[in-house]
Amino acid sequence: MEEISSLYTSHKKCPICGAKVDFTKIRTRSVRLLKQDSDFCPYYEGENPILYEAVICPECGYGSHITTFEQVNGIEKARTREKITPKWHKRCFLGERTYDQALEAFKIVLLNLYEREAVRSEIAKICLRIAWVYRYKNEDQLENKFLEHALNYYKMAYHEEDLTSGKLDEYTCMFIIGELSKRAGHYNESLQWFSRLITCYSDPLQKSHISNKLIENTRDIVQEVKDLIAVNKGEAG
Ligand SMILES: [Zn+2]
Repeated sequence: MEEISSLYTSHKKCPICGAKVDFTKIRTRSVRLLKQDSDFCPYYEGENPILYEAVICPECGYGSHITTFEQVNGIEKARTREKITPKWHKRCFLGERTYDQALEAFKIVLLNLYEREAVRSEIAKICLRIAWVYRYKNEDQLENKFLEHALNYYKMAYHEEDLTSGKLDEYTCMFIIGELSKRAGHYNESLQWFSRLITCYSDPLQKSHISNKLIENTRDIVQEVKDLIAVNKGEAG
């Protein structure tokens, strides 16, 4: 039997220039999740769909995460036309992506987000994905640099954005901030975010909005962070 490729081409209409944007996707049935790191970084058997999440219009240079491609307001459209399109050289992003090609696509999206002054949580999401791709490549320094960016933008998102309606809820945001603070070595700050989350969970009004899995993970990581603090104190003393 002939093997069917796990990649296929889908398309969306560019919200900036109206062009038909073809992009590569992975067939859902060929995606097998093997495991996830504590910051949700996923590992797959076979093709990794994360590498295909940055979608870029080949005509005008507009770029976005695949899930928010159409979500751009009038001011953001104007900023894209003013700051991205004039510098854009037409090019295609179709087909299989290497880690480096995925990084390039994510960085074009990140530049787009900065230039159109997109919401902080979108910038944080793309920084986190760039960090993951560097992790897949075992490039620790660059991974840590982008984890730090993601941490700063998640904190801004937590303080500035309404997290009650979008995909990122405030409890997951707290968890990610705690987790990324731990990875950055800010252990006390990490504990503060996790204990804030556990306090929310003890409030009957908020409890139903927080998944058991998130709280289980939180309790495990709190213990891990306490152990890390103890080890560091031991080394210092
Ligand atoms: Zn376009």
